[in-house]
Amino acid sequence: ERQYPEQAEFKQAVTEVLESLRPVIERDEAHYRKEALLERLTTPDRQLLFRVAWVDDEGQTQVNNAYRVQFNNAIGPYKGGLRLHPSVNLSIIKFLGFEQIFKNALTGLPIGGGKGGCDFDPKGRSDREIMAFCQSFMTELARYIGADIDVPAGDIGTGAREIGYLFGQYKRLKGTYEGVLTGKGLAFGGSLVRTEATGYGLLYLVDELVKDHGSSLAGKTLTVSGAGNVAIYAIKKAQALGAKVVTCSDSSGWVYDEAGIDVELLQEVKEVKRARLTEYVAKRPSATYHEGRGVWSVKTDIALPCATQNELTLADAKQLVANGVYAVAEGANMPTTLEATKYLQEQGVLFVPGKAANAGGVAVSALEMSQNSERLSWSFEKTDEELKQIMQNIYYNIKEAALEYDRPDDFVLGANIAGFKKVAQAMEAQGVY
Ligand code: NDP
Repeated sequence: ERQYPEQAEFKQAVTEVLESLRPVIERDEAHYRKEALLERLTTPDRQLLFRVAWVDDEGQTQVNNAYRVQFNNAIGPYKGGLRLHPSVNLSIIKFLGFEQIFKNALTGLPIGGGKGGCDFDPKGRSDREIMAFCQSFMTELARYIGADIDVPAGDIGTGAREIGYLFGQYKRLKGTYEGVLTGKGLAFGGSLVRTEATGYGLLYLVDELVKDHGSSLAGKTLTVSGAGNVAIYAIKKAQALGAKVVTCSDSSGWVYDEAGIDVELLQEVKEVKRARLTEYVAKRPSATYHEGRGVWSVKTDIALPCATQNELTLADAKQLVANGVYAVAEGANMPTTLEATKYLQEQGVLFVPGKAANAGGVAVSALEMSQNSERLSWSFEKTDEELKQIMQNIYYNIKEAALEYDRPDDFVLGANIAGFKKVAQAMEAQGVY
């Protein structure tokens, strides 16, 4: 608090974790204090800030601020995405990197926590501008990353196209062909299922959650926010599991589709044309378009926020509860505010935090690293089955961690404790650093 008064998102993420770790710390407080484990865990190993200069299509030189926060590599190389969005700042990258430590630990795979990004806005930029930006970004980033050091991936604004340009520039600079990035194209070391992984993984976990509580996704109504990578594949898998998804959104507005979202049309609008949701509604008579935000006002059994941080507020949570919501699972990172999370949990809504629910993306990224190391490519079925197993394991691990502290169904507590214990043990075993 004293050191970073301006880092609101980072403080929010740390507060959520530390508050829920209280029962663990209290069992062995003197030890944790002596080792300064919480201080070490909340201070990144290093934070890199650098300039990215590039030339736009008018010949104008543009300057952006880029970040890579290498937070913790106790259990494996730093791993976490690169966000390209005008809102990116150090607080946001630190919050994402901090969350990533626990998420990566929960996957059961050997990956540490990191995150990066830039305040560059890819919207409306030509392919050539995107390439120029990515090449300049990688020219500096390449100094700090490597297949056994730090392996970045995609995030908001960074998809297959950007990863391709970044990978090409890394290869050119280093003269080496290595799995330094994940989310690559299938022709050059990418993994099948990576594109689908976060959305599919979210639904595998939610499916297990619902079954474990004696119910099923079949026939349930779901609301999803966002219309990007996570949202699209969450909608697709939810529908494959028999649910009806009636909403999606972007930063301009949202869609209610009483017949259920037509995923192919949504993919055409968002993935192929990179257009706005108004185009979806123009081609879909059962859908209506609404400016601004409002997805959480729709009656739903299960809400899946899949857009961005702090998009589900206390007022939204109250509306969801009033409409009888049964579960909320975070596809995005920290989409639910602290007050909204607390309220949902108090009201008995099953709430699964992002670090568990959206871990499928990074899990398949780690599988991509494995495939690159052994120079093999796994089939879709094998990789998808691995993903499903990982998500089911995460569900039972966080459930059991919560039970150990007599807090059944407190998945926030369970996820933080299960992730923390693994990382803390590894840090202690490796000595003070
Ligand atoms: P995309 O860029 O593919 O999509 C993001 C979506 O959210 C878009 O519909 C975008 O709308 C909307 N959005 C972004 N910022 C805002 C904002 N400030 N206000 C309202 N809407 C916004 O990103 P992803 O789907 O990859 O990521 C979504 C979330 O999931 C992020 O929190 C990300 O960190 C998290 N995540 C992603 C993983 C992945 O594998 N992709 C893995 C784990 C977590 P618009 O197009 O108008 O900007």
